[in-house]
Formats: sequence, C-alpha cells, structure tokens
Amino acid sequence: MIIDSHAHLLYYGDDVKRIVDNMENDGLERIVNIGTTVQNSREGIELANRYDKVYATVGIYPEYAASTTEADLKEIDRLAGEDKVVAIGEIGLDYHNGDKDKEAQKRVFEEQIMIAKRHNLPICIHTRGAVSDTYEILKKHQKDIVFPSIMHCFSENGEYAKKFMDLGFYISFSGNITYKKSDRSYLKDIPLDKILLETDSPYLSPMPLRGQTNEPSHIIHTAQKIADEMQIDVEKLIANATANTYRVYKKMR
Ligand SMILES: [Zn+2]
Repeated sequence: MIIDSHAHLLYYGDDVKRIVDNMENDGLERIVNIGTTVQNSREGIELANRYDKVYATVGIYPEYAASTTEADLKEIDRLAGEDKVVAIGEIGLDYHNGDKDKEAQKRVFEEQIMIAKRHNLPICIHTRGAVSDTYEILKKHQKDIVFPSIMHCFSENGEYAKKFMDLGFYISFSGNITYKKSDRSYLKDIPLDKILLETDSPYLSPMPLRGQTNEPSHIIHTAQKIADEMQIDVEKLIANATANTYRVYKKMR
C-alpha cells in the first residue's frame, strides 16, 4: 500500500470524502495533507481529526512570507503541538516570481526550522528557482533539523540530490518526474531507503493523466515510472517508500 506523503486535500472541498472513502481501493494507506498558510494548516488538522488515515503538516509557504506576522508564526508553533501534526511544511524558498521578498522568505523559513526543532518534528522543504540559497540555509541549520526530513517534489539534479541526502534528507518525487522533459538520469543513484512518493495534488498530475486535476489515486503512475527507471518491481519501490515515509513522519501510526 502506498502513502501519498504530500497532498493538498482542502482543495477538493466536500469531495474529499470520496477520495478518502476510495483509499483502500486505490491502494492508499495514508495521505498527508500539507499546510501552506495558518488558516489551511488549521483546517488540515480538522480534516486529519475527521479521517483516521489522514495526517497533517502545518507551515507557511515561502510566497506568503512577506505578509507573515509574528502572531502567524506563534500560531504555527501552537498548531505544531497537535496530535496528528507530523511535520512542519511546506516551508522553503521560491524565487520564481523574482527575488524581491528574498529576505522575508529566508527569515520565515529559518523561524519555522526553529519551530520544528522545538517540537522535534521533521521539515518538508519546497524550493523553486532557489536551490543554492535553500541548500545554504539547510546546511547552516543542519544541527537544528530533525532528520530524516523531506525535499518535496524534487526536480533539481543528481548533484543536488546527493548534497541534500548527505545532509540527511529523503528525496520525494511527484508527478512531474514523469514528464517528458524531466531529468530522470539520476534516479538509479537514489538509494531505495531514501525515496518518497507524493502527488502534490491537485497539482502536477503524472503522465498519462497530465493536464487533469491530480488526485492521490494517480500516485501509482509516478511509482511505476520511477520503478521502470530504476529497473525494479513497482511493489518493491512502494514497500520501500512506505517504510521510509513512516521513518520521516514518526508520529504517524
Ligand atoms: Zn505542495
């Protein structure tokens, strides 16, 4: 059975019930709902409290850093103590709209690394167009981070995959790894005990369902593509990824 280690279930509104009800049929064992704001972190916890097989992370996404207040960070700190919260995330740096709020992003990122430390929780990292700054901050805080932690939706290259694994991160792949232009050459060099699977639903639906709204059930296509690339049986990949996910999200049962 697969764990979708990163999804945004609040997007589906009332339809989330259908997704959770179908989990068994879809071969899904757990889904981890990811927070990006104070408000949806709070709602994610409510969702996790409603459904046994759903867990939650809390955190503020880099693009909201500039408008983040001290009160917001205090609230994330408070929510981090809730039972079904298994990580702080997604947090990190995103410069794809330019780098005008770089300093705010770095500050909010570092403050959330420290919140995770206080709660002994792993972190789930989002980085886009900012890999070298992200790496520098994670390296600087290596002693503060609870490992293993997660590089989410990894789409850099083999060199950086190795650098992040050397720090103590696991590498998580979502649907975009199946896309024609994605670099998959280094997948064979990712040890099976360092790999996670996710959908990042509703975004990044894998091939051959690209263009559709993504859902946790689509994760099998991502798993199959990675397994083909690694030349291993998909069930073997899934068994490893699931075990790895429990090692990261230690509070998940
Ligand atoms: Zn996400």
